[in-house]
Amino acid sequence: MTRKNTTDKSSRLAFVVHFVQLDLDRLRPGDRLNLEDDLARFLEPDAQGPGLYAVAVGVPGIATGELSALQATMRAIVTSYLELREGRRRAADLYEIHLRKMITPQGTPGGPPRVVATGEVRDVALEVLFSVLASVEADRLRRCPECGTIFLRMRKQLYCTRKCVNKANKRAWLATPKGRRASRSHRRRAYERQQHKKYGPKVKVGEHKTRKGSRP
Ligand SMILES: [Zn+2]
Repeated sequence: MTRKNTTDKSSRLAFVVHFVQLDLDRLRPGDRLNLEDDLARFLEPDAQGPGLYAVAVGVPGIATGELSALQATMRAIVTSYLELREGRRRAADLYEIHLRKMITPQGTPGGPPRVVATGEVRDVALEVLFSVLASVEADRLRRCPECGTIFLRMRKQLYCTRKCVNKANKRAWLATPKGRRASRSHRRRAYERQQHKKYGPKVKVGEHKTRKGSRP
């Protein structure tokens, strides 16, 4: 029960965002163990409430090939989910999963009835991913229009980081007449500085050659 916070929809969503964008080839052995822990927690059944109680077999020591295949499938699902929502894609693929399901009138002592499902890591992971994407929390999943990074937005956040906000603001400003003028004189000053550095501070800097229409 004390781990309830680590298995709710938000933290599962956070794991999805982290996992699908992780560079598996650059994991150090310690990172790899942490990832296995996080994956096991992602697959861990919800402590309370009715519904699916899925049990995956074989997370510790999961084969690298299996892990990267799972990552590729989850990334494809999350990407199509976002593209469908953004209206950039019309049809979705189907993903077959195999789970063995059982029902019990009492999942945990004193708890509600449950469906208990067991299966391979991949199949249980996709089942959990489905329940995460079907939850209202998934509305916070966003893709940064500047750099394409998938992130969980806070409030009205549009871009993944401040860096991308600044980049987008700068481009929007450069598109205005004022921004264009400022950028021209900025380039001009940079050119003058460069010429002075090259030929000394007394040199008179003329117009930039390429701007005189001297090109063939
Ligand atoms: Zn970004």
